[in-house]
Amino acid sequence: MKKHKINIITLGCSKNLVDSEQLATQLKGGNVEVEFDSNDSNARSIVINTCGFIKDSKEESIETILSYAQARSLGKIDNLYVIGCLAERYKKDLQKEIPEVDQYFGVNDLQKIVKSLDVNYKEELLGERSISTPKHFAYLKISEGCDRTCSFCAIPLIRGKHQSVPMDLLVKQAKNLAEQGVKELILIAQDLVSYGLDLYKENKLAELLKQLAQIEKIGWIRLHYTYPAGFPDEVIELMANEEKICSYIDIPLQHINDKVLKLMRRGHNRKTTMKLISSLRERIPNISIRTTLLVGHPGEGQEEFEELKEFVKEVQFDRLGVFTYSEEEGTYGAKNLTDDVSEEIKAERSDEIMALQQEISLKLNQNKVGNEYKVLIDRIEGEFYIGRSEFDSPEVDNEILIPINGSKLPLGEFYQVKVESAQDYDLFGYVIQ
Ligand code: SF4
Repeated sequence: MKKHKINIITLGCSKNLVDSEQLATQLKGGNVEVEFDSNDSNARSIVINTCGFIKDSKEESIETILSYAQARSLGKIDNLYVIGCLAERYKKDLQKEIPEVDQYFGVNDLQKIVKSLDVNYKEELLGERSISTPKHFAYLKISEGCDRTCSFCAIPLIRGKHQSVPMDLLVKQAKNLAEQGVKELILIAQDLVSYGLDLYKENKLAELLKQLAQIEKIGWIRLHYTYPAGFPDEVIELMANEEKICSYIDIPLQHINDKVLKLMRRGHNRKTTMKLISSLRERIPNISIRTTLLVGHPGEGQEEFEELKEFVKEVQFDRLGVFTYSEEEGTYGAKNLTDDVSEEIKAERSDEIMALQQEISLKLNQNKVGNEYKVLIDRIEGEFYIGRSEFDSPEVDNEILIPINGSKLPLGEFYQVKVESAQDYDLFGYVIQ
């Protein structure tokens, strides 16, 4: 007989999602029924996995806690637990401000959380994973924390120092995911390119990728959250030669102006950044580059911003996202820099960059009309199958829409698709095999 049911609400990034999944794996191991982000759940116990990265995400986390705190005080639920980055960062304040929550836990408290939910923690379950994503793709978190000191970032304050997950455990998890039907593995971390430097005293990302590529049922391996400084050359070599590794890279660059990059304490400059981009494009000709830029950082005047715009026009990124600077307490930026760019100008600059990128994305997509791509179909939406090529990551990138027209294609499978038309962020096509 199932013990009881718990609904895990996950906010924030894919790394938080993996934490929620690892908690679910332990709970299911203890005969607890688990739901993920269910809006119409009748679960009497709720766990909210919060985000504490920047102002907007903190506000979303607090709103979510408050809505369940009300349900708790009205007796609609019996237990309410809050975990994750916001709880790690502001536990004492939250305990005072929102006492309706039964318990708050930090980011390294998996065993404590499991125990407080009346389940025995099982070390051996770390090699397994109960996934909340569609069954054909999953995230693999290869390390936690970060040793870098970017001026604007609170993550090292929340998640601590860089810690690689042992390679044998990652390979075991990946095999378990493949047995569950996962075809696409998305590698995530705070700083993917530092994998192994702590645990093995040398970079082991290439070796990990080789081992993951040997798992037969895995078709695609995708790299997210790489860092432009210290990017291992052997990884570029492997990406160029190992078919399973998607010709796709997510590499947050944040800026291109040397003065701003220095103030951001990023450890890379215009010259090294341009060199890395051209090296990626020369050695992996069809690579799709996703980046994230930060506008409105202290010291970013109009001249520096103009340089950033020129950079976006020149490089023509395949995928691009923009954040505005948010002064985060405890960071180098909050302690040493003045948040001198107004929120209005930050928003204007973000809009300007995204307007530029929309034009670029449309042009790049139009160049794909007539081409054929291997596509993984994720879901059905209205009259369309929604899929992605190796150049697109779930939830953040472009999608390919394929009219259903009465066909019954199994989801979560690869198909050969010909592109018929393009929009700024979507392609339209049909299955040819
Ligand atoms: S690399 Fe920089 S931005 Fe990324 S998690 Fe580390 S400190 Fe934060």
